[in-house]
Amino acid sequence: MAPTRRPGDPSSRLRIEIRGAVQGVGFRPFVYRLAKELSLAGWVGNDNRGVTIEIEGSPGSVDEFLRRLPLERPPASVIAGIVHTGIAPTLATTFTIEPSTEDGAKIAEILPDLATCPACIAEVLDARDRRHRYPFTNCTHCGPRFSIVVGLPYDRSRTTMAGFAMCPKCTAEYASPDDRRFHAQPNACPDCGPRLALWDGAGEALAEGDAALSAAAVALREGAIVAVKGLGGFHLMVDARDDEAVSRLRARKARWAKPLAVMAYGLDEAKLLGVVSEDEAIALASQEAPIVLLERLPGCGLAQGVAPGNPRLGVMLAATPLHHLLLGATGFPLVATSGNLSEEPICIDEREAVSRLCGIADRFLVHDRPIARHVDDSVAAVVSGRLRLVRRARGFAPRPIALPASGPTVLAVGAHLKNVVALSVERRAVVSQHIGDMETLEAQVAFERVIGDLVAMYDAPPVAIAHDLHPDYASTRWAQRSGLPLVGVQHHHAHLASCLADNQAEGPALGIVWDGTGFGTDNTVWGGEFLLGDAASVTRVAHLRPFRLPGGEAAVREPRRSALGLLVAAFGVDALSWDDLAPVASFSSRQRAVIAAALSGDTNSPWTTSAGRLFDGIAAITGMGERSEFEGQAAMALEFAVDPAVRDAYPLAGSSDANPSVLDWGPLLSSVVDDVRRRTPPGTIAARFHNALVAAIVGVAEKAGCDTVALSGGCFQNRVLTERALAALTASGFTVLLHRQVPPNDGGIALGQLAVASRRLASLP
Ligand code: ZN
Ligand code: ZN
Ligand code: FE
Repeated sequence: MAPTRRPGDPSSRLRIEIRGAVQGVGFRPFVYRLAKELSLAGWVGNDNRGVTIEIEGSPGSVDEFLRRLPLERPPASVIAGIVHTGIAPTLATTFTIEPSTEDGAKIAEILPDLATCPACIAEVLDARDRRHRYPFTNCTHCGPRFSIVVGLPYDRSRTTMAGFAMCPKCTAEYASPDDRRFHAQPNACPDCGPRLALWDGAGEALAEGDAALSAAAVALREGAIVAVKGLGGFHLMVDARDDEAVSRLRARKARWAKPLAVMAYGLDEAKLLGVVSEDEAIALASQEAPIVLLERLPGCGLAQGVAPGNPRLGVMLAATPLHHLLLGATGFPLVATSGNLSEEPICIDEREAVSRLCGIADRFLVHDRPIARHVDDSVAAVVSGRLRLVRRARGFAPRPIALPASGPTVLAVGAHLKNVVALSVERRAVVSQHIGDMETLEAQVAFERVIGDLVAMYDAPPVAIAHDLHPDYASTRWAQRSGLPLVGVQHHHAHLASCLADNQAEGPALGIVWDGTGFGTDNTVWGGEFLLGDAASVTRVAHLRPFRLPGGEAAVREPRRSALGLLVAAFGVDALSWDDLAPVASFSSRQRAVIAAALSGDTNSPWTTSAGRLFDGIAAITGMGERSEFEGQAAMALEFAVDPAVRDAYPLAGSSDANPSVLDWGPLLSSVVDDVRRRTPPGTIAARFHNALVAAIVGVAEKAGCDTVALSGGCFQNRVLTERALAALTASGFTVLLHRQVPPNDGGIALGQLAVASRRLASLP
């Protein structure tokens, strides 16, 4: 029972400041209701820093308020900190909600876009509700946030909903503290909100409103490719069961092998496509609603071309009313792949979409609510009982990640592939949404736009820029042009620092950082690294034996080149005549002569210790993929091939005398070649290879003498490698850190760069 206040009782007044994700989630009406219930006076308001409350009443009620505030907070809110101070009572008797102010530094959190809540879905499906079949229904518990915000504090006038004037009914909901839509900034209804339209492939209008949605569903049923404007950009959608339609989509996008994600109506429908564990079900149905990599069910009825040769399937659930209605109307799962060409950023504007996607999409299902910024679907997998991100965007960005210390504002510009940038704002890293591979002009434009966007939104101009040491990365060159003080951070050091920051750990730790490519301090390409240290500094205690990559960058797309680099390093140029090995046979004798010359001279065959390229080479020798459409494709084939019954391992040991110690894969390669010649099943070879890597990891960890081990780098997207390394290290008594909030791949680099830069700047005199 709430204690009631009588006239003459002693009263106390508190000022309470709350930080975190507390705006646009129904926090003020919640505070209002709680204060009313406890007969407290005072006010609540939003400002640039979060929510500020003053409450006044009997000391018992004030204590009760403080106790219940964090326990009963709205579901979408996250409280990062509460500070309260006693102030003089004013003898106020009412409680009010104050208008937003712009006081203080802009550190209030912008929420990510949130999947539609059950209450909103129920309204959309209810024929008697005024929002029946309305695709833009939302409330303070759900709906768009990051993709519509144009400034802080978060108010309708600073969102892309500014152009839609609310009708009287919506205005009444928005103004009523008792309503689920009190100050729901994107609040809308069929009378006053955004509307759908269906366009043909040339951008000519065919239908509007609900008729547009129905016509889009008919087109999908007939096998058409429909570009659908979603929350953070366009998807290309097609019937996921239709072999011919999926092949047509692949041909038009010129994307042949990379798996396509599938959208299912709900959890029950997802369970018809893949094996869904309890943790995976929670992830699928979460507010973040990421694409979750599931084990594909045999005979699930999907087209062969959805994820060729892949035992896994990326599945997401419909997360907006538009997608619920569309999936409800088709009654079958839809391929939902990014509306872009190859690795360019996704389209967000309908006119831009028509010009960029013309020739790919037959129809465009669009609407007139502008998208403020591109936000791709996030991709995640449950590994070792926890959701781990592969791509961090919708639902997660721009949730901040706590940094070890407060420092000056630093901008980290990330790496080259899977680029992500990050900005430190006081003690938090605001990590941007996935931007993409910096190969195209579009990606570089998006990179600059995201940086401008973050700096403007938080009103936090950086005083320094952290960048990768690679001199040719577009991100590095941009940093150099900025004119600001620079902090160069070695790529694999950034990976380790990222894993530490991700786990709120200080270190020191042994970072086992394995990836495809990273510029080393000796100007060679690193990627099979064992680094001991923390954000301040690291020592390279071990690495894979170096080998040369004939053709340099071309090796990323052609694992057979890594194979030849390994073979020649181990057996000499004679190995170029071993026609019984697939990667050797795939080159003509003229090409082999060029490669032999490159490997014995100095032309275009850089040295590398890359674990990613070792995976590629072994995959190619085992007969899996001489060429790759995307980085990691051959390594994935090798992972998927692993025969779980095979527990023995190839020899792979570190030299005891060298410093750093060198893991010599020579004996391992000999055994692989012998096994291939003996026609040992590829599943056995793949298992022995993975087991060898795990044993080597434990061996180096035992020598390094640090009881915490951090696993980072793109190779740790490999579930077999990660789970087995985790089990073996744990069994040997190590504490193992895996990524949680950012991906282990280069999408996590910006966070690590920030952690290193803040440490270096803090230690300056
Ligand atoms: Zn809702
Ligand atoms: Zn309305
Ligand atoms: Fe990397």
